[in-house]
Amino acid sequence: LAPVLEADFYRFQQTLTDTEQRALGRIRAFLDAEVRPFADDHWEQARSPRHLVPRIAELGLYANAFERTRHFDNSALFRGWVAMEISRADPSTATFIGVHSGLAMTAIAVGGSEEQRAEWMPKLAAGELIAAFGLTEPGHGSDTAKGLETTAERRGDHWVLNGAKRWIGNGAFADLVVIWARDVADDQVKGFLVRTPTPGFSATTIARKQSLRAVENADILLEDVIVAENDRLQRIGGFRDVAVVLRLTRADVAWQALGVAVGAYECAVAYAAHRVQFGKPIASYQLVQQKLADALAAITASTALCVRVSQLQDEGEQTDQQAAMAKAFVTARMREVVALAREICGGNGIQLGGHEQLGADIPPGYSVARYFADAEAVYTFEGTYDMNSLIVGRAITGIAAFV
Ligand code: FAD
Repeated sequence: LAPVLEADFYRFQQTLTDTEQRALGRIRAFLDAEVRPFADDHWEQARSPRHLVPRIAELGLYANAFERTRHFDNSALFRGWVAMEISRADPSTATFIGVHSGLAMTAIAVGGSEEQRAEWMPKLAAGELIAAFGLTEPGHGSDTAKGLETTAERRGDHWVLNGAKRWIGNGAFADLVVIWARDVADDQVKGFLVRTPTPGFSATTIARKQSLRAVENADILLEDVIVAENDRLQRIGGFRDVAVVLRLTRADVAWQALGVAVGAYECAVAYAAHRVQFGKPIASYQLVQQKLADALAAITASTALCVRVSQLQDEGEQTDQQAAMAKAFVTARMREVVALAREICGGNGIQLGGHEQLGADIPPGYSVARYFADAEAVYTFEGTYDMNSLIVGRAITGIAAFV
């Protein structure tokens, strides 16, 4: 479905190389054929698109900041565009991939020894194994740095983990779960590679979720789980190293939020062109055009921020506060855009496949309701809007408002 006006209004895609633009075209074709048409069904059934794993691996989409792929150079800028495109087709699929390659693989790349990287990265990049990232706990979300309660106790050549984790994407079926736990001896947060299944580890899928429904999030219980010292991430010295992982992935989440906004905007443009009221397509009314113009302006400003923050990452200069500002700003604009887009789609905008009521030639997967609901989780995870704003506020004032 070609929008009348491309969402990339200022042609930011030209910041990519020709090879990258061609690769992006191939990825878009895959998403249009194999992801978008089935996204509503997966969402409704709350089922992760696990059948896509071999295709995602084949296309080299399990790339992260440290893995080169067979298909393209792996710049942060290109990774960002890819995250945007996947999210534009289906935010749940983008999160399913993001947890595995963004969070878990980056944790191993940043925190693992050479041996650990060599053991795990090729299998994870090939999609032979699926990984999860267990940081958040039932009692600690925004304050995990200070509050994390899961404990790790060293006994000889192994560790014993005890505690609980919440909201862990892919957690119920992952082969490998990165668990962050506090060492009872020195009070520092350490990372552990928990190979599942293993005694004492249990995971229950969180039911009745109303955002990113096709991501299976889990409650995890750790009861005297034994992990070998060899499976402790050797280069993690404390929470400051976890923050390095989050700095790298937060920019990708900003791109993901941009994809949610673009997906919703495209639904609204298509709907407005086909929906007739008062004898004319609603696209012809000034108030509808203003909403579309506001949405496109928000998307354009967000794209500029995303492009620049990724360029800074590629130049090795991106800071925590720059990543935090990108995540906060783009998710806030995303929320505005999905609301405008939903409004334009009227009552049909609250139903999966609501555009089918128009009898128009809009393909499956253009469901503004799905983007509207998914935006809420993207706004909240990897640091809420508030927490990311406070990271920027700390940089401006030199005063941390959240400790
Ligand atoms: P809380 O921290 O309880 O915050 C509640 C509200 O209070 C928020 O609005 C917050 O901004 C505000 N608040 C808190 N402290 C302050 C303050 N000092 N000043 C001002 N406002 C404040 N975690 C993982 O580890 N792995 C995953 O794979 C994962 N996937 C997720 C997927 C989904 C769909 C969701 C919803 C969450 C996921 N998370 C995951 C957890 C996510 O990172 C947390 O939800 C997030 O960090 C917020 O924590 P919380 O939900 O406990 O909210």
